[in-house]
Amino acid sequence: MSFKVGALVTAGVTAATAAVTAATLKILLSRRPALPSDPQMYAEPVADSDADDNPGELRATFLGVSTIAFTDGETTIVTDGFFSRPSAQHVLAGRVSPNHAVIDDCLRKAGIDEAAAILVAHSHYDHALDAPAVAWRTGAMLVGSESTLNIGRGYGLSDDQMQLVDVSEPLKFGRFTVEMILSEHSPHGKFKGLIESPLRAPARAKEYKMAECYSMLITHASAAGRTRRVLVHASAGFKPGCLEGRRADVVFLGIAPVGKQSDQFRDDYWRETVQTIKARRVFPIHWDDFTLPLSEPLQAMPYVADDFTVTMDFLEKRRVTEGVEIVMPKPFERIDPFTGLGSTASAPVTL
Ligand SMILES: [Zn+2]
Repeated sequence: MSFKVGALVTAGVTAATAAVTAATLKILLSRRPALPSDPQMYAEPVADSDADDNPGELRATFLGVSTIAFTDGETTIVTDGFFSRPSAQHVLAGRVSPNHAVIDDCLRKAGIDEAAAILVAHSHYDHALDAPAVAWRTGAMLVGSESTLNIGRGYGLSDDQMQLVDVSEPLKFGRFTVEMILSEHSPHGKFKGLIESPLRAPARAKEYKMAECYSMLITHASAAGRTRRVLVHASAGFKPGCLEGRRADVVFLGIAPVGKQSDQFRDDYWRETVQTIKARRVFPIHWDDFTLPLSEPLQAMPYVADDFTVTMDFLEKRRVTEGVEIVMPKPFERIDPFTGLGSTASAPVTL
């Protein structure tokens, strides 16, 4: 009898502790900064008629975290291709897997039927989880580290639909050229290491180990003779000097968790990315809470993970002192990332 009472008390205490932990976690995950309210800070979508007026020009669609679709109407390439965004509960306590219904919805909404390549920045789940599923649906080549290819193998992609990154060999897709540049993850990146065998979902988030991190320099040469260069720098880290000698007028710049870093880090990060490539426009990416669905308005990461306002204050100071534009992308809106940048944006630059 006393054993039963003791067990009941223990069970009661355990349940109460779990409830308190869950409640605390809920509060921590719900406290977050607001996004900028100034509409002028957001990118203007291009009109549907634009494709007829400017055939073959580069367009970009931000799709949360560091997923961006680039297209010229003939060829589409996608960075990461992460849409499932499993809830915090799944990530912390369970297993994650691609949500095929969500992926289908997002691809349809973004107007992506087919793609030439899915380029994966690194193998953490918030970049690589859905990449094989998106490659399979769109007929694209999955491009990434050996660890990313092991996620592809776990999904069932054949080797002829996957391409291992060779940093010395730029990739060509239609009028796009992509240079994968070895970079570094943001500080204190978790789940380091390699995925050394095929990883089959569902799997724990920590099984999606980081492996190599890439910064992607995308060059598009339009039929009309315009050359556009965009850098997609997904993770807010840097390998000193790794972008030396490269140029891009536009950078999609990962900013989490820059708000939690030191002033020195923010200065170094800016110098090693935006200043080095001489970017004139910055689209902040990887600021959204990726445990919330893309079907709802994006929200900044909770304070427990990052402080978006600190980063935005930093970017605002750089905008004022250096004249670099800071433009927030909106999900699912197709934009001309170079609009209004003027003629030098189209000038060919020798790498
Ligand atoms: Zn990561």
